[in-house]
Amino acid sequence: MSETSPRYLVPFDPKRVPHYFADVLVIGGGLAGLRAAMAVDKQLSVLVITKDDIKQSNSNYAQGGIAGVFDPEDRFEDHISDTLSAGGALCDPRVVEMVVREAPQRIQQLVDWGAQFDEVSGELILGREGGHSARRVVHALGDATGREVMRAVIKRVRSVSNVGIWEDTFTLDLLTDDGTCRGALVWNRQHGKTLVWAKQTILCTGGTGQLYRETTNPKIATADGHAAAYRAGAELRDMEFMQFHPTVLYIAGSSRSLITEAIRGEGAHLVDKVGHRFMPEYDERAELAPRDVVSQALVLQMEKTRHPNVYLDLSHLDASFVRSRFPGILAACGEFGIDITIDRIPVRPGAHYMIGGVTVDEEGRTTLPGLWAAGEVTSSGLHGANRLASNSLLEGLVYGAHAGAGASRCAAAMQDDFRALPLENRAVEQPAEPLDLSDIRNSLKSLMWRAAGVHRSGDQLEDAVHTIDNWRRYVLLRQFQDPLGWELQNMLIVADVIIQAACERTESRGVHSRTDHPETDEENWQCHLAYSR
Ligand SMILES: Cc1cc2nc3c(=O)[nH]c(=O)nc-3n(C[C@H](O)[C@H](O)[C@H](O)COP(=O)(O)OP(=O)(O)OC[C@H]3O[C@@H](n4cnc5c(N)ncnc54)[C@H](O)[C@@H]3O)c2cc1C
Repeated sequence: MSETSPRYLVPFDPKRVPHYFADVLVIGGGLAGLRAAMAVDKQLSVLVITKDDIKQSNSNYAQGGIAGVFDPEDRFEDHISDTLSAGGALCDPRVVEMVVREAPQRIQQLVDWGAQFDEVSGELILGREGGHSARRVVHALGDATGREVMRAVIKRVRSVSNVGIWEDTFTLDLLTDDGTCRGALVWNRQHGKTLVWAKQTILCTGGTGQLYRETTNPKIATADGHAAAYRAGAELRDMEFMQFHPTVLYIAGSSRSLITEAIRGEGAHLVDKVGHRFMPEYDERAELAPRDVVSQALVLQMEKTRHPNVYLDLSHLDASFVRSRFPGILAACGEFGIDITIDRIPVRPGAHYMIGGVTVDEEGRTTLPGLWAAGEVTSSGLHGANRLASNSLLEGLVYGAHAGAGASRCAAAMQDDFRALPLENRAVEQPAEPLDLSDIRNSLKSLMWRAAGVHRSGDQLEDAVHTIDNWRRYVLLRQFQDPLGWELQNMLIVADVIIQAACERTESRGVHSRTDHPETDEENWQCHLAYSR
């Protein structure tokens, strides 16, 4: 155990905290977590824990949709090959095949549970997104798929009697004994700390976007699950692969809303500060090039023009079409006095999707016995070095179902044993000087943006290793009282792993773009980087 990284974040004494027992504990109530909860045998008790209101998840904000082969003209083989070709030779072909073939049935299950996808005459409308060779993306409410899917799934889970949900409850750490996960230490404002003992635990805590100054992710995405799994001894893999979304609304004071790539699909141009349309100079597919190519071009153009953003221009498109096709973006920009049918929309890239995570096998088993995982917190081998659009909700559905079923099977085979284990973590003496946590958090987010952003270089990454190490020395040894401190500790632990991995991978592949190693090096780097403590 490293001196700067204690095993548990806070002190606890089993004689002084309440205990709760569940057959299966699911940490996270996004799509992956709720799908996992639904897959557990109804005879078993399930507890789902969410850090905030259950509606606050990346799943809820998903826009474009979920990919699956429905069109008779489309083929599983094509969805598989599109996924593999996006993934830069790092996908696991068996995983890709399994997920793609399961997609239609998993999406149909959502329809059976009441999710209303956009249809015409009873047929699903299938959208086409960057990297897909066919129309295969089901969507809902136009550009608010996540909201509709989560509405239906939350309603369904609430109607099931064996599943309990604790909202506004922060998972601090996974409990381990004898190399096995035994549940989690959780905290909420009303009851303080509780030890939740579970026969099997499923981690579904989502992404890490909040590590970056610019991100599409909501506030909950602070890498807590990645950090807790790492502290508990599980393996993290592929952490250098952070996908950036090229077009995030960039208005001071606004939330960093994602501007869907469908807007470029419908003909919007990317222009710089003088109105020059630059994408054709970077890629022959122009605005329709893959996300990583567009993000990298945007950053170069911003540097060239010394301007903090570029713009999306829709003024040449039919105004009534724009209004009806993009009602969400129209409203969001309208609040800041931007009429998207006339005015240019300021955008820049933002951290969007963490491809790396807790290593899982095809059933969702992690390297730590008793711990399963699903969704964005994992590295399953589906995405390789670059995620194909609309494949991540799908991954959450498939792996949620697998992990739920696997954990259920194992829990059912175990005896009821309502005993707390004598685990304890002692309080340590605290330095007298208080820390300005917001200051460190903002500095970390800026550092990650500069050093581990769209473009990376060895020099900057090495500097970042030292800076983060310095912050870790005095932040990780403290024991904080509330989520602000715990989130910062988690962010520092995971930032350190991302930076180390980005530093180690001396090539460019997928979303990992090294200015000092611009080529892909198949001979030395067609492999995964894995870290565990
Ligand atoms: C703006 C946006 C648009 C997107 N659009 C699409 C799209 O169109 N198609 C697509 O496939 N993907 C899309 N994605 C990606 C996709 O939404 C996510 O990858 C996916 O929803 C992740 O699901 P999840 O269940 O793994 O995590 P989440 O949905 O993020 O859920 C995480 C859960 O974990 C809980 N949690 C986190 N930390 C703790 C803690 N310490 N204690 C307790 N609970 C905790 C949270 O409260 C939450 O309930 C989009 C993402 C964003 C941000």
